[in-house]
Amino acid sequence: MEDCLFCKIAAGEIPSKKIYEDDRVVAFYDIDPQAPVHFLVIPREHISGADRITEENSAIVGHIFAVIAKITKDLGCGDDFRVVNNCGELAGQTVKHLHFHVLAKRSLAWPPG
Ligand code: AMP
Ligand code: ZN
Repeated sequence: MEDCLFCKIAAGEIPSKKIYEDDRVVAFYDIDPQAPVHFLVIPREHISGADRITEENSAIVGHIFAVIAKITKDLGCGDDFRVVNNCGELAGQTVKHLHFHVLAKRSLAWPPG
């Protein structure tokens, strides 16, 4: 989608610190890390947010979680990490392209702010 930051990152038009990519997803480090490990996993397909996940396009979410399990193992996070999706303005979504934050290697409080 034109003028979408994460579509441009997925296409390689805007540089990012990529960790993993395949034909369906891209994972890259967050530019403003909130933990010693903080990366994002996005579908290549433009889906504006979690509210737009349907029975037809939801297979990508399972793949994203499989990729998260692989990357966290590769980065030595063990089984300690948090996956976050912000959907909508009130929840803090600033980029309108579906993405999952993965935070690790520090203690994380609950509930979130
Ligand atoms: P959210 O607020 O949940 O929409 O998350 C958007 C995230 O994208 C934030 O954590 C930003 O720090 C991150 N971000 C914004 N621009 C870039 C970029 N060019 N490269 C990597 N991460 C980015
Ligand atoms: Zn997009």
